[in-house]
Amino acid sequence: MVIKNHPSIYFVYSVLSQNKKMAMPDALIYLDNNATTPCDPRVVEAMLPYFYEKPGNAASRNHPFGWMADEAVKQAREQVAQLIQADPREVIFTSGATESDNLALKGVFELYRRKGAHLITVKTEHKAVLDACAHIEKMGGEVTYLDVDPDGLISLEALEAAIRPDTILVSVMWANNETGVIQPMKAIGDICDKHGVLLMSDATQAVGKIPAIPKAAGVHLMAFTAHKMHGPKGVGALYVCRRQPRVKVAPQIDGGGHEQGMRSGTLNVPAIVGFGKAAELAVQEMEKEAQRLRRLRDKLEKALLERVEEASINGSREHRLGHVANIAFRHAEAEGVMMTFNQRVALSSGSACTSASVEPSHVLIAMGRSGELAHSSLRFSLGRFNTEKELDDAIEAVIRGVDKVRSMSPVWELFKEGIL
Ligand SMILES: *Cc1c(COP(=O)(O)O)cnc(C)c1O
Repeated sequence: MVIKNHPSIYFVYSVLSQNKKMAMPDALIYLDNNATTPCDPRVVEAMLPYFYEKPGNAASRNHPFGWMADEAVKQAREQVAQLIQADPREVIFTSGATESDNLALKGVFELYRRKGAHLITVKTEHKAVLDACAHIEKMGGEVTYLDVDPDGLISLEALEAAIRPDTILVSVMWANNETGVIQPMKAIGDICDKHGVLLMSDATQAVGKIPAIPKAAGVHLMAFTAHKMHGPKGVGALYVCRRQPRVKVAPQIDGGGHEQGMRSGTLNVPAIVGFGKAAELAVQEMEKEAQRLRRLRDKLEKALLERVEEASINGSREHRLGHVANIAFRHAEAEGVMMTFNQRVALSSGSACTSASVEPSHVLIAMGRSGELAHSSLRFSLGRFNTEKELDDAIEAVIRGVDKVRSMSPVWELFKEGIL
């Protein structure tokens, strides 16, 4: 093949092979893996041939380029399906979890509307779910938003009580992106099954980290994305149950009828190949990796809770992802704390920037935290490439930061004097 000899290809490969250990910018510590994860170099390597050497469109049926792309997508679909123990035909590739959430919610609403127009979800869901639900309300649907307890968990009784004859779908996220809190999916699935209601789950933070098996939990639709599990950005999937019951969603993008007519558009072959590789690596490494990260997370949490006054964990300690810690440091404003180490340690705060202002996290507020406490919360999310040394450095940076912010805070002083 002539194009294989293009010199730039050799350049890319040589850079890649020399930099097997691609280094992050010096002295930066990335602890924001729930926002996105570094793409594993093994994933990048698997993707590269599909940009240039094998440029085919997976829908091209009449030449080897198309066949190669189609074969690669087929393999990736199997790899992704294996990770969630599904049939490959139940995996619909999308551009990410936001699109998968929208496709599931709006697609079910559109198709099952004649049965009813009522949906149930939870106040702590990701904005991709909440905003899609708001859209459905505008289209004439009705949505019940369940509360959570101070641990971030829903009440199964409240869920069952909310189900009505016209309820068509329940949507509960598997694990929360801010707190790591894991909902009791199997018990939720049993309730939905009992009432003949479809169950959808945004499992973006669970897939690749803990076993998230839709069939085992009675989940009919499940959204997830590659870039939260060391794959590339811009590719995700929606699991759509094919048997007992056979579920369908109305497409939200019309076009060539790709992905069994549920999601049109030329498949992003390199990204899908990368997603497949990331899934394969997760199957191989998930268990060991989860143990390693849990130990590091527990060490971080223990150090911060022991050495910092008025520090508390946001979210259930028992039902929680092992690589996430969301900690409130009373009267130490999170953005200020991060400023003390010049954002050298990359974290998230319990504040969300909207177009107009800085709002406290809707998740922490739903859990009953005050706005003040939410703004004083930091989220640490660990990933495959974090080392123990990095965690040790982060612990010291955060302790110093909280001390510094509090030392300058009149509110903290009043609090210490018992006035506040
Ligand atoms: C990141 C995330 C999303 C959005 O995923 P994209 O692939 O970036 O669209 C949706 N839900 C949850 C829970 C997430 O953490």
